[in-house]
Amino acid sequence: MTANVLIVGGAGYIGSHMVLAAQEAGWNVTVFDNLSRGFADAVGSARLVQGDLRSPPDLDRCFQSGDFDLVMHFAALAYVGESVQAPDLYYQNNVVGALNLLDAMRRHGVRHLVFSSTCATYGQPREIPIPEDHPQRPINPYGRTKLMIEQALADYADAFGVNSVSLRYFNAAGCDPKGRAGERHDPETHLIPLVLEEALRLQQGGNPEDTGLTVFGDDFPTRDGTCIRDYIHVDDLCAAHLLAGRRLLAGEMRGAICLNLANGAGFTVLEVIEACRRVTGEPIRFRMGARRAGDPPELIGDARRASGELGWQPAWTSLDAILETAWDWMRAR
Ligand code: UDP
Repeated sequence: MTANVLIVGGAGYIGSHMVLAAQEAGWNVTVFDNLSRGFADAVGSARLVQGDLRSPPDLDRCFQSGDFDLVMHFAALAYVGESVQAPDLYYQNNVVGALNLLDAMRRHGVRHLVFSSTCATYGQPREIPIPEDHPQRPINPYGRTKLMIEQALADYADAFGVNSVSLRYFNAAGCDPKGRAGERHDPETHLIPLVLEEALRLQQGGNPEDTGLTVFGDDFPTRDGTCIRDYIHVDDLCAAHLLAGRRLLAGEMRGAICLNLANGAGFTVLEVIEACRRVTGEPIRFRMGARRAGDPPELIGDARRASGELGWQPAWTSLDAILETAWDWMRAR
């Protein structure tokens, strides 16, 4: 089945991988992106419409330029710390922007949406692994903005027949194994690229003593005191989007459905660093720092519902293999 898909935020990290996955599936891809965090060259051969979600006229221009069957919405600000410092940016981009997108979809008769949501909507976990029916009490503005859109989607499904699948990602990691897309953030705040950047510095002759890497806290109630996260390969996230998109287009998914995307296995920050040492062969060092505001000790997802609803299983279950794809991309940059 071919489809015309609009990938909103297709110039970003996960969106640019989605462009490749959708094209490989034979879909026609248009990207809408304001390039505030993404990169024009990351959309490859897809058509790019540069515009801003906060501007309904930009959205109308985009929707008039194509006859879209389906929208995938990746365009959000996604730094927890920044969301605490500048919540206005987050509410404007992530809430107002997403509502503008939904209303543009309605104006132009597009009824299917795959929405990038997050495990940050759960807040402090009461049980591990976290199932979808776990209470959602986000502890930072970023998580709240995503939860608000999940809630709007339930109301838009009932009132307007907009069908959606919200995919709650755990920690996206890794890069296209063929090296065509990768993880680029500016500034970079995520653990894996920062550890690998440190390895690259060492490979280029840097002194291990001058490490720029800080581990945010070793006094959490975990096996080594550092935070545990569930790392899921970006290609596995994209595979779930394709499956969800196909089910929506086939009319097999109605309403507003929420699914976790996770591997179901957790690694501490120190275990990630040790795995990066194995993969890169570099003696990566770090400094121990204070906790970062808003970090729950442990986030591991229960993805059985995605398996049942979509027939989705992560293909990348080895942390080392996930890290190798990120390392290959970083070295080739
Ligand atoms: N982390 C760290 N040092 C860094 C960046 C991240 O110790 O320079 C920790 C962070 O506190 C969290 C884990 O690594 O426990 C994953 O953080 P990341 O920002 O990659 O993803 P998040 O879990 O915030 O989505």
